[in-house]
Amino acid sequence: MLNLIDVCKTKEDSQRQKSYWNTYHCQNKIISSKNRIYGKYCKNRFCTVCSAIRKADIIHRYYPTFKSWEEPHFLTLTVRAVKIKSLSKWINGMFRAFSLILITPVL
Ligand SMILES: [Zn+2]
Repeated sequence: MLNLIDVCKTKEDSQRQKSYWNTYHCQNKIISSKNRIYGKYCKNRFCTVCSAIRKADIIHRYYPTFKSWEEPHFLTLTVRAVKIKSLSKWINGMFRAFSLILITPVL
């Protein structure tokens, strides 16, 4: 975070700099009460602590749905950045790839 804050200083981006400082201080003060601990979260996407919490929350919300699936998988497909003029071709290709994945039987 400190290196990112330095980059913001050179670019005079005070908004982003503030976000990075919030992440730097995320969970730096923890209060314990009645066998539980509490802290202040920054809730930024680039914070590893807050991302993990957000991911756990999403899994918890979707769990009732995917627990009924026979064989659930989590899959992330990525491609290199493409030029704007070929973007629609790439998106169509991704849809074709998804349809092949969905109809291909598991061996
Ligand atoms: Zn955070």
